Amino acid sequence: MNVDTLIKNARFVLTCDEQRTVLEQAGIAINDGRIVAIGNVDGFTATRMIDATDCIVLPGLINLHTHLPMTLLRGIAENVDLQGFLERVWAEEARIMGPKGTYLGARLGALEALLSGTTTALDMYFHPEAAHRGAVEVGLRHAIGPVFFDFPGPDGLEWSERIELTHSWPSLVEAIGGPHVPLYLMPHSPLIVNPEHLQQINELAREIDARINTHTSENDKENADTIAAHGDRPTALLRDSGLLDERTTLAHCVRLNDDDRVAIADAGASIAHNPGSNLKLASGAMDLVGYREQGITVGLGTDGCSSSNDLDMFAVLRLAANLARLVHHDPAAIGAEDIVRAATIDGASGLGMADRIGSIEVGKEADVIIVDASVPHLTPLRDPFTALVYAAGRSDVRDVFVAGEQVIADRLPTKVDQREVMEAARAHVEGRHGEDKS
Ligand SMILES: [Zn+2]
Repeated sequence: MNVDTLIKNARFVLTCDEQRTVLEQAGIAINDGRIVAIGNVDGFTATRMIDATDCIVLPGLINLHTHLPMTLLRGIAENVDLQGFLERVWAEEARIMGPKGTYLGARLGALEALLSGTTTALDMYFHPEAAHRGAVEVGLRHAIGPVFFDFPGPDGLEWSERIELTHSWPSLVEAIGGPHVPLYLMPHSPLIVNPEHLQQINELAREIDARINTHTSENDKENADTIAAHGDRPTALLRDSGLLDERTTLAHCVRLNDDDRVAIADAGASIAHNPGSNLKLASGAMDLVGYREQGITVGLGTDGCSSSNDLDMFAVLRLAANLARLVHHDPAAIGAEDIVRAATIDGASGLGMADRIGSIEVGKEADVIIVDASVPHLTPLRDPFTALVYAAGRSDVRDVFVAGEQVIADRLPTKVDQREVMEAARAHVEGRHGEDKS
């Protein structure tokens, strides 16, 4: 049989399937965007042959919480806590993050993500249409949706305009195209979206069949401010407005109490763990192992570049693993394979997409990355999961496929000109093309 793409001779294929299958000296056949065979692929011929000798092949990483356009704000808010960070960021957003800045920042962010082995991102930003257009152009599987605040945010939208955008959102996403993603609505957090508005978002989400993404209990002050403003903790406010269920991904959840944890586990909501951002903003140490033991699905994220400064999921793998061990004072608290699963199949579950992506299985969409292990820091190569979590880096990612399309080939993007993406972003930040108030 002739197929579109044949990946051959991989040292390891980490399928991340239910049985935790790991294949050695194996291949993958991809046709029409999907995986059609795994293992021995000698019987296939292909239009495009990829030699994966000395490489580790695994599902594309899933960044379950980020703000891609904030690449343009990298490095502007250093040595401040969450509240100080938000003050500085919001001022700069008003200056450069109109639709054009959002588009350019999303392109740069999507490029950084893909080069780092991330094939899917759950993104949150204003001007979601501009962000989606930018990220899809580069080839990322990009989930985003209208963001909600009680007050006009840097995008200047009133509440009624946010609702209007929600009604047109399904057709906007369809018009932009790109790899399949679910629809999302994104109340920023129960702190700045009041309970009445949360209920309204719940009704809207049911109307257009959207999933929910929000920030929850990132630090102690956020919890205290939420109680002061609305009389309850963020998780309880979400539950009472009908927003806490299996459609929902909660970013951070660093400072949950026992009631919050039980409510999230009972609801089947997922959590996006962002150790890089949490450590840098000194928000606290999330209990990855404890949440997993309670049956909560936990994926991994980078958060935005203005807090964690990059979109490097390999750094997140290592931080998540080491932080979990430190929290439990136990070097066996979590294994490297479970950390890789958190960034692949568990992230897919968080998106409600575990039937389509997150593992290498026949019939699934081909979101696959090839990591070059023929480098000194991955030699000798024993356990591939340990190598990925504790020794590999994002620059080891050589090739990236999203829905069967090769979007990174030998460390370069195939759909955009890398220099043009960087130069357009730089020019915009420096104001060489005028203020972005468009
Ligand atoms: Zn965030």
